[in-house]
Amino acid sequence: MQEELFIYNTLSRSKEKFTPIHKGMVGLYVCGPTVYSDVHLGNCRTFISFDLIYRYLLHLGFKVRYVRNITDAGHLEGDRDEGDDKFAKKAKLEQLEPMEIVQKYTVGFHDVMREFNALPPSIEPTATGHICEQIEMIKSIIEKGYAYEINGTVYFDVEKYNKEFPYGQLTNRKLEELLEGTRELSGQDEKRGRLDFALWIKAKPETLMKWLSPWGWGFPGWHIECSAMSSKYLGDTFDIHGGGMDLQATHHTNEIAQSQACNHKAPVNYWMHTNMLTVNGVRMSKSAGNGFLPGELFTGSHPLLEKGYQPMAVRFFMMQTHYRSTLDFSNEALQASEKGYARLMNSIKTLENLKTSSSSTSNIKELQKKCYEAMNDDFNAPILVANLFEGARIINSVNDGKETISADDLGLLKKLMHGFIFDVLGLKDENSLASNDKVLEGVMDIILDLRKEAKAKKDFAMSDKLRDELAKNRIMIKDTKEGVNWSIEQ
Ligand code: AMP
Ligand code: ZN
Repeated sequence: MQEELFIYNTLSRSKEKFTPIHKGMVGLYVCGPTVYSDVHLGNCRTFISFDLIYRYLLHLGFKVRYVRNITDAGHLEGDRDEGDDKFAKKAKLEQLEPMEIVQKYTVGFHDVMREFNALPPSIEPTATGHICEQIEMIKSIIEKGYAYEINGTVYFDVEKYNKEFPYGQLTNRKLEELLEGTRELSGQDEKRGRLDFALWIKAKPETLMKWLSPWGWGFPGWHIECSAMSSKYLGDTFDIHGGGMDLQATHHTNEIAQSQACNHKAPVNYWMHTNMLTVNGVRMSKSAGNGFLPGELFTGSHPLLEKGYQPMAVRFFMMQTHYRSTLDFSNEALQASEKGYARLMNSIKTLENLKTSSSSTSNIKELQKKCYEAMNDDFNAPILVANLFEGARIINSVNDGKETISADDLGLLKKLMHGFIFDVLGLKDENSLASNDKVLEGVMDIILDLRKEAKAKKDFAMSDKLRDELAKNRIMIKDTKEGVNWSIEQ
């Protein structure tokens, strides 16, 4: 089934059969978060979509090197290489060091990804950790004639590049069209061409995060970090590069130009872009003020939310729309997802106790085939979910005695439901975590009874041993007049 995977490639605007450069291995690069503030649910949608893609590639048996960077420098407020550095601005606002800002929001991002059960990438490189690589790449682009320095800032020469390579190819735009949409240069502009963008930016006296380069003190532009880090870890040409579709026109277009200018090779074989999470049709963003945080979603503490939602219900909500379609947030849709998620989890429990018969009334092999067909068709998770609901229907029918299933088919159905629900969709049974708590309560009742018996027999050595061993495992017990209390020390 591996041979059958088709991926929609933004570059060719069509679905293409996926052929990795090295058999059985995949290089995957996804633009990560800019860690000067909390990630909102829209950002999470993009990272969760790529988590699904990563998980499915692993499920198919590929060895995947998944690189997702952390942008911790070089991100100016506008797309035009002007305005304040976002990190420095936030550092002043919160009265912290820029690297404290970076640490704070990186930790927050990891916590959120864990809540959503997203797998960590294989490598998570930071822009500040790869300044040398970025400087080397800029030097090489200058040597090859596609960049120039003016007064300590280095610009990429878009018009020169476009004479040899189609600069606007990712969004299918000609240079003339792009120029039309850009303002004229003013007398204050240093750069030669309207579309030229900065590879290295000269530091101002007040700039906090700066490094010494052949062009003096400064810091890298945003786009160069991804070109430098992707080629370092995945090679000059690698399999898949992804990000939100808002990155196509500038960030990814410039990444292609930088890498192509430096290496004279197209950097990426398959460009993948996820569509946006919207609220009432408006794209969720930090600047639009409609970007609620995952924490607010879990607790329900945002005016747009009728109540709190479990992370797995939210993850399931995202899986019910294809990654290339917009997903509009609404309480109704989330509540429907809560029900659907519960239905799948209940079917998994029922599956454990199904009785088998000599034959099956449903075709489980066919169902399995449909699940793979859905995912092989550009990771079509909503169709996969529809097939998993069909699996849940079969499970309930067999349980009610309306249908039968053979032992072989039951084995296949278990493999299919577990594999796609837990490994591929990345869901976990949140309620079974609660049931684990119940198991712990039961075990503690047994231990406390044993301790009570030991005390009654005046076997204090045993009762103390039980108390001390529990304490070693952070379970503290306390004798009170009403009985024995226990708690887990945090
Ligand atoms: P940023 O931290 O702003 O660089 O964004 C991190 C990722 O989130 C990028 O891949 C963006 O394209 C993506 N993103 C931003 N807003 C949204 C949204 N409303 N829906 C989905 N993805 C988004
Ligand atoms: Zn990037």
